Amino acid sequence: MFFESGLLIVTHLILPAAFLIWLWQAKESSKLEWFTTLLVVSLFSVHIFLIGRWDVLSYYLRFVLVIIFLIAALKSFIKVKSLLLYPPRKFVSYLPLGVNSLVAVFFLTVMSSYIPQGYSFSGEPVQLAFPLKKGIYYIGQGGNSPTINYHNDNPAQQYALDIVKLNTLGMRANGLYPRSLSNYAIFGETLYSPCNGRIGSTVNDLPNLIPPERDRQNIAGNYILMQCEGADVLMAHLLRGSVTVRAGESVEAEQAIAKIGNSGNTSEPHLHIHARKANTGNSILDGEGMPMIFFRSFLVRNSIVFRD
Ligand SMILES: [Zn+2]
Repeated sequence: MFFESGLLIVTHLILPAAFLIWLWQAKESSKLEWFTTLLVVSLFSVHIFLIGRWDVLSYYLRFVLVIIFLIAALKSFIKVKSLLLYPPRKFVSYLPLGVNSLVAVFFLTVMSSYIPQGYSFSGEPVQLAFPLKKGIYYIGQGGNSPTINYHNDNPAQQYALDIVKLNTLGMRANGLYPRSLSNYAIFGETLYSPCNGRIGSTVNDLPNLIPPERDRQNIAGNYILMQCEGADVLMAHLLRGSVTVRAGESVEAEQAIAKIGNSGNTSEPHLHIHARKANTGNSILDGEGMPMIFFRSFLVRNSIVFRD
């Protein structure tokens, strides 16, 4: 957890601050050089805005980044207004411009690997009701690229979502990586059926693990696999003893069916949900992944869902 916290602070605080201070303070020799600095800082900022896990430090910090970026861009523009468009005709004055251009090409290459593919889907999606209520929910893993959704390489879980709940500070837990389950905002929340359908199978007796403990034998932990129209939907990592439905039972959309826990191969309390085309898997975890639409939206990392 020490390593994760350090990495998170470097990528979400120290690096963005360093880029913004650079944009704010840099002493460019021409407008063109300033433009390449602005380009590099813009690309980095958009990249971390999109792929960052902003639920850990605070979702609201994401917008602080945008505001500081806009102020820094304006400040730096005022500073270079009186400069010439091109640098003096000396090799050394073109050097920073060249380095900036290379870094910009690097960021563009990285970003083109997940934009736009990560934010789009192919094939017919299944329309579902969002299975959680009362609060602000955050998509930690979601989308059609491994950069924003670590499930994406797995055919059945191509469009899987990992969902957490945000507290009043915009964090998914009290603390960065607390060990106590009750510190996670989503722990114990009620899970509601995402469709009118039938329960396929369930598991209800696996223990709630203390983070970062994982159960690698029972990947899904306590789960409900249910048949919705044209899709099988799996909801995993549920609270031990909380599943109130049985195999073969018919349920209605938004009917309470379980509670969120921390069972199975999970790093912390969250809801894992994915859909596969009906009857395409032998075990609960295989099959052909299917995109899910909630409230007419294809949810991806950093999507937010407000629920009464
Ligand atoms: Zn998951």
